[in-house]
Amino acid sequence: MADRVFSGMRPTGKLHLGHMAGALTNWVNLQDSHECYYCVVDWHALMSDYADSSMLMENCREILLDWLAVGLDPSKCSIFVQSHVKEHAELSLALSMVTPLGWLERNPTYKDQILNLQNKDLSTYAFLGYPVLMAADILLYKAVKVPVGEDQSAHLELSREIARRFNYYFGEVFPEPQALHTTTPKIPGTDGRKMSKSYGNSLNIADDLNVLWDKLRTMMTDPARYKRTDPGDPDKCPVWDLHKFFNNDPEEMEELAHGCRTAGIGCVDCKRKLFGHIEVVMTPIHERRKSLEGDRSLLDGIIHEGARKARLVAQETMEEVYKAIGMLR
Ligand code: SF4
Repeated sequence: MADRVFSGMRPTGKLHLGHMAGALTNWVNLQDSHECYYCVVDWHALMSDYADSSMLMENCREILLDWLAVGLDPSKCSIFVQSHVKEHAELSLALSMVTPLGWLERNPTYKDQILNLQNKDLSTYAFLGYPVLMAADILLYKAVKVPVGEDQSAHLELSREIARRFNYYFGEVFPEPQALHTTTPKIPGTDGRKMSKSYGNSLNIADDLNVLWDKLRTMMTDPARYKRTDPGDPDKCPVWDLHKFFNNDPEEMEELAHGCRTAGIGCVDCKRKLFGHIEVVMTPIHERRKSLEGDRSLLDGIIHEGARKARLVAQETMEEVYKAIGMLR
């Protein structure tokens, strides 16, 4: 049997090319070789956005459209919404019994988030406990592999510790999930910083080609190329990072890099070349997204079937959990 993989994303709006290059391309590859569970973690979104949940439903639909458009295939993986499989909340409660408060209070991401999201009151019981829900998400499927970026390693370690502690008290129920580190290309935003919705510098998957070109046209380049006649350095240019992901023509890349270093080409020429490659990749993605946008019942069918498949595994795990704890069934 193929190894199980679990991964989730918070529904906070439309996804951007950073998500596509960083996570979704891996997810699409993994669905061919692993038993994958991909989950829109709406409970997690609510933990930080409880004060205004008006966009939650819409955001869930948007993220699902993006996932399907980039190539997640419901016949190869289970695509579902976290709250549709109530066992996530149940297991989270069970795991919270054995999770020491100190582990959560010491969690470095928790402290960072509290500092970074000062416009939200995150001093809630749920927000402190979000690593417990995260552990439940993974352990519910006994996923042995979790695709994670470096910044999430601490969370996965916490999930492993929670699994170990549960197993210590109640017997070996959970395997310890391992990180599946994959190479993540650097995808900067239009201002050269990390691409992020909160910086307003994103190229979104759903942006049509005109919008993408407008954003690309004005995107920051190597600051040393002040004038067209100034030579530049592709390694200092955020546009070049996009070339590395989208441009599959090494000869052209070489010519462009030479042209940049010798001021033989201008940045607009270089961006036009890049845009040609973006167009080739994004056109079928946009077509798929459009056809799904107009078919609400198709999308609903996909997530209901995904939840049904996920529930089969989740219910089996929960039966084991109740039995291991010794609860009356
Ligand atoms: Fe960047 Fe291309 Fe301009 Fe060089 S020519 S600075 S790589 S956009």
